[in-house]
Amino acid sequence: MIVDVHTHTPTHRERVPDDERLVYPAWRNDRPVVTTNSWADFDAAQSGADVSIVFNIAVPDPLAMTGLPYDLETCNDRTAAFVAAAPERRIGFMGLDPRWDDLVEQVDRCQALGLVGIKLGPNYQGFDPLSDAAHALYALAAERGLPILFHQGTSPIREAPIRFAHPLTMDEIAIAHPELRVVMAHMGHPWPRETAVVVRKHPHVYADVSSLILRPWMCWEALTMAHEWGATGKLLLGSDFPIATAGETIAGLRRVNEIVEGTRLPRVPEEAIERIVHADALAALGLELPAAAR
Ligand SMILES: [Zn+2]
Repeated sequence: MIVDVHTHTPTHRERVPDDERLVYPAWRNDRPVVTTNSWADFDAAQSGADVSIVFNIAVPDPLAMTGLPYDLETCNDRTAAFVAAAPERRIGFMGLDPRWDDLVEQVDRCQALGLVGIKLGPNYQGFDPLSDAAHALYALAAERGLPILFHQGTSPIREAPIRFAHPLTMDEIAIAHPELRVVMAHMGHPWPRETAVVVRKHPHVYADVSSLILRPWMCWEALTMAHEWGATGKLLLGSDFPIATAGETIAGLRRVNEIVEGTRLPRVPEEAIERIVHADALAALGLELPAAAR
């Protein structure tokens, strides 16, 4: 089974008219990225995965911080509705902010909606991932068995502090919350070395490979680093839809060694690549296969 652990909830239920589509030409070198997608667009893009984990980030101004035009108040309800429409192939995570006064009520509400994990982007949200409020949320997540997927590494958004997404902060979080299941997005690019050493030492900390295929050298370096540190078994498949699709990501991983062909640089073993493509992400995160898919 192929599980994509990192996709963003499509912004529209129905097809978006061409003149209303938001397009970001600079996000990829090879093609523009359309961020206004319908449910059908999502399914077409994700046909290469059996199950996709979907979410949005709880930021007050999503368009400015993520390029996706959704609204903070309804983002979790929209993810839940999207999942409910095809529960055999979608799993929803909730977007939260540890500074909310009604945080526990929001977690209760999102769990009642069927959301089974949490997505955080401390850099986009502007909170310190090592603050007391953040630790309180991690403790609650660990207690309730809610895995957290953290944006990790850099981002082009000027106002998003990079240090709030540095992979070494995850080491401290995992030391304080050893039972918490964590996914470090993008292998913390451009710090895959730091990510590899964090995931190898913490049994419940994993990393996803989303967006790495867009930078061939970074992708090769990241997977080579993980292989040398014995950490490829802690890597999960992720596409970061709408940035890339599941199928493109799998094809890109399988081409990872192209860049070193004709050199004496080490190759990422094929078994390691297939292990990532077929990683049992649901077991890793303590999640169940959606009942509808069983
Ligand atoms: Zn993402």
